[in-house]
Amino acid sequence: MFKKFLYAIGLIIFGIFIFLIVKNANLNSFIDSVENRTFDLRQSIIINEGGKKANEDIVIIAVDDATYEYILANYGEWPLPRDVYANMINYLEQFNPTAIAFDMMFVKSLKSKNNADQALINSFKKYKNVYTSMNFDNQSPDLRTPPQLPDKLAINVTNNSKIDFAELTYTNCRKILEGIIDATSNIGIINVSRSDDGVLRKMPLIVKYQDKFYPQLALKVGINYLGEQGNSYEIDKYSNLKIGDRKIFLDKDGSAIINWYGASGTYTYIPMYQLIKAVNGEKTQLNYDFSNKIIYFGTTAASLFDIKTVPTGKIYPGVEIQATFLNNLIDNNFIRKVNRGYTLALSILLALLIASVVSRVNSAFTASLMSLSTYFIYILVSYYAMKFGNLWLEVIYPLIFSIFAFTCAYIIKYLIKSRDFELQYKLATTDGLTELYNHRYFQEQIRMQVEQSKRYNTSFSLIIIDIDFFKKFNDTFGHQSGDAVLKEVAQTLRRNVRATDIVCRYGGEEMSIILPNTSKEEALLTAQKICERVASKKFKLFNGKETNVTISLGVSTYPSDGSTAVEIIEVADKRLYNAKNNGRNQVG
Ligand code: GH3
Ligand code: MG
Ligand code: MG
Repeated sequence: MFKKFLYAIGLIIFGIFIFLIVKNANLNSFIDSVENRTFDLRQSIIINEGGKKANEDIVIIAVDDATYEYILANYGEWPLPRDVYANMINYLEQFNPTAIAFDMMFVKSLKSKNNADQALINSFKKYKNVYTSMNFDNQSPDLRTPPQLPDKLAINVTNNSKIDFAELTYTNCRKILEGIIDATSNIGIINVSRSDDGVLRKMPLIVKYQDKFYPQLALKVGINYLGEQGNSYEIDKYSNLKIGDRKIFLDKDGSAIINWYGASGTYTYIPMYQLIKAVNGEKTQLNYDFSNKIIYFGTTAASLFDIKTVPTGKIYPGVEIQATFLNNLIDNNFIRKVNRGYTLALSILLALLIASVVSRVNSAFTASLMSLSTYFIYILVSYYAMKFGNLWLEVIYPLIFSIFAFTCAYIIKYLIKSRDFELQYKLATTDGLTELYNHRYFQEQIRMQVEQSKRYNTSFSLIIIDIDFFKKFNDTFGHQSGDAVLKEVAQTLRRNVRATDIVCRYGGEEMSIILPNTSKEEALLTAQKICERVASKKFKLFNGKETNVTISLGVSTYPSDGSTAVEIIEVADKRLYNAKNNGRNQVG
């Protein structure tokens, strides 16, 4: 009964606890931010173990520090005239690359270099595998009027999920050269999303602008690489964006969670100055076969740095993030975060498992070790799920639930144990019939009284009581009536002494009372009172009639009657014997 009650209370507290955690937004976002760190940790360990191999079809042509120096020396300024890019495109196209993508924006030229711009526009017209980027933002319409974009840049998305894209809806756009927009529809956006701690863990595949969906640059390149035709996509009710037979999981804000392939420098880097030199027919170390490669152009130079913090490093150039994003898409490696509902169910399961371990295993050490191992196994599972299944099993909710269950189970176990102990103690020290203390307890207490009185120089008294002619009583009225009388006498004794006095069943129909801090005179008065009370009491018999019972008493006092427990008991016994001899129903 008591156990069931405790378990019920435990379950109710557990339920309230779950409710509070799930409903508290602050707590939730705190848990999420800690969970994010564990994601980073898992990703880093997977990478350190050799994890996922980056796709070697992706190569980056970087405006690195050396290139930046080269450009300043040879062209006098940054940015480069656009015809230099046109020449590079023309040069690369000889190799038949799969795609050439610029993670750079060709916005309106400051100075009139119209011929140079036109050369680049012509390249976009000429080659269907060249891509460039654009960026949405939330600048005030005060600064620039939000431009209209042609329909060809947008994609149709049927959204059957709960994702509302509120965080991925932009109100303004930094427009690129009109001529490029006219020349090609190979334009993707390069917006990113970051967590509260500034770390970039996911990126939007599609964003919203003026009620239309626009694709990420890497999505545009990837769709083409995968040979997907058409402009219409569906997000199913499980938040998967469907691309051919791929289902890309979108997190609750609509971004895709990126699987990382390594620290900065994972992808092949070619400094752009080498390419410029090769284009100009100068001697260069460049000796690279670009055929069938996806070539990304981007800046990595410190002074142009477009750096971000990602789970695997603090310095990660934007262009490599684009490459990683594309890599996830073409190798189908995006991370799928397990639904919060499943996480909670798993957490509850783990908590119950740990609670049952704690309640079943006796040794505290073993129980703790087993609980810890249970959680550790879960951590291992979550690690391998990410490594081999691209699955993000949350670990912080289960941890909190486990700790809570562990603590709760321990408290309940302790309460049950302490109650068991109380019960055992009561059984060991009391007499079942009279509910007085038993003989063993009496012996313990009288020895303690002697010790205490010795140390504090006080006195205590002992009264021994024996019922008169009890054998005869039993013979006349039966043992059951005898037992009832014993009980009633015991009660009478208890009612007529102080709370601090210790009333015991000495044995048979003999009882004793230890009276701490009590002189002989006081003890005699008490004994006399008890004797009279019992004598005047009507005892109910089993047959319904009433009768009288008398008792005889012997009193002794420490230290005047002896200095040990044995002596004190002996003297009281002797006086009880005297009382019997003098006619009973009296104090000896
Ligand atoms: P006296 O006045 O000299 O004490 O006479 P007595 O018959 O009481 O003598 P004694 O104290 O030697 O008798 C003890 C009797 O108490 C024996 C037994 O029948 C009875 N008795 C002891 N324990 C119990 C008990 O638990 N229940 C009942 N019903 N009787 C008990
Ligand atoms: Mg007796
Ligand atoms: Mg007796």
